[in-house]
Amino acid sequence: MVALSALVLALSAVSALGSQMASRGLTRVCGTEISTAEKDAVEADFAARRTELKLAADAQKPKRVTIPTYVHVVRSSRKLSGGNVPDSQIADQMRVLNAAFANTSYSFKLVETTRTTNKNWFEYASNYEDGIGNQTEMKTALRRGDAKALNVYTVGFREGTAGLYGLLGYGTFPFDYEDAPKNDGVVILYSTVPGGTTDPYNFGTNLVHEVGHWTGLYHVFNEGDLSGTCDGSSDLVDDTPAQRYPTFGCPERQDSCPDLPGDDAIHNYMDYSTEDCQNNFTPGQRERMHAQMGVYRGI
Ligand SMILES: [Zn+2]
Repeated sequence: MVALSALVLALSAVSALGSQMASRGLTRVCGTEISTAEKDAVEADFAARRTELKLAADAQKPKRVTIPTYVHVVRSSRKLSGGNVPDSQIADQMRVLNAAFANTSYSFKLVETTRTTNKNWFEYASNYEDGIGNQTEMKTALRRGDAKALNVYTVGFREGTAGLYGLLGYGTFPFDYEDAPKNDGVVILYSTVPGGTTDPYNFGTNLVHEVGHWTGLYHVFNEGDLSGTCDGSSDLVDDTPAQRYPTFGCPERQDSCPDLPGDDAIHNYMDYSTEDCQNNFTPGQRERMHAQMGVYRGI
């Protein structure tokens, strides 16, 4: 399994074969990426700001916070196959999102659904080089609310690099907001919502994964380079074991770092497992989430 994961990871990064495997449901691609250098810089900033706020934060018990949520349906036509996600699927998606975050401080309330017909945004709005112009235009036109508001965009990712890689989604981090407020939010493949057609990634946890990034979480696996390393602290969370590679499918168990304690967190929302396999955030992830949201979103 380790060898297969390494192979799949290497292939999905650069080749058309990776895309073929993705289309057969063997891989998933999340476009939320951060370089080691950038991570080091933002984590230093986070540690400093967290220390500054620590007294106030410790004095407060976690409380329930309702996050206003805007869903922007971007479509190429008024048909479902053109990305026109029905309200019923959006309601189901909100239920899945809230169930996943039930043991955190956050719940999400849909305040508005917008619908926009724009073929370019629908086909190309990735964060890859050939999509970035469209995604910037789309978010600038549609984004609502401030740092405390979640904006979700549903698109097609059919063309260019996104189509080739089988991109399922990407999200921004809380620490990105200050410098690029209009860019803040989560973009997902429309057919990954519950009842969508992207089997086996149509349980609605693709959005949970991306909102995990939006609340400040990294992937549970090490993404330093394609060879993978066993760095147990790569996600800055203590209770997710060291994991060399992302998980694909839903293996019974996997231990990609056998010399270090703990099996891979294959059921964690921040891995790449199939969606029926994913069912938890750890206490350490919840703590990081609350600290990131407190420091950078004021909630
Ligand atoms: Zn991700």
